[in-house]
Amino acid sequence: MFIVDIQGFQYKESEFIIREIAIYDIESNMIDHALIKLQHAVTWFSPDVRKHMQWCTNNIHGLEWKEKDDTGNSNNICKPVYLPQESIGNYLKDIIGNNTILVKGLNKKKALEKFLCNTIIDMDKFNCPNIDSLSNCNLDTHCGEHINNTLNCAKNNVCALYSWFVK
Ligand SMILES: [Zn+2]
Repeated sequence: MFIVDIQGFQYKESEFIIREIAIYDIESNMIDHALIKLQHAVTWFSPDVRKHMQWCTNNIHGLEWKEKDDTGNSNNICKPVYLPQESIGNYLKDIIGNNTILVKGLNKKKALEKFLCNTIIDMDKFNCPNIDSLSNCNLDTHCGEHINNTLNCAKNNVCALYSWFVK
């Protein structure tokens, strides 16, 4: 079984655009982590969408909208993989196989269902608390690729969700 968290951009009913993925393997305690390169420049979107995306960056996850040559923070020793959008499905399948996935929240469950046929369980079914109350911004598990380490990191989140799940 695997716990997955994704961070990204979603405007109203639009598709969830994934910017960061973390996968926690409950059997082995191994974590896989990737940042996703974006297909379009932010200017491709309407001003309303751009405003919302900037709000997500500033208030939710601190991941900036960067297309193409995204190489991340050069000071970060534990570098994530940088994947193009079209590789997300294969990346998830290679790591997770046919195993069951736990994810926090219906929107993220729906976003993952676009890529996978696995059984995906929304952790809210187990009354999983709000992620902010679980995550204490542990800098050991925060990936360091965000503008601010107090904002949501998928890697930090899967560690927090795992700790809660096995408690
Ligand atoms: Zn992160």
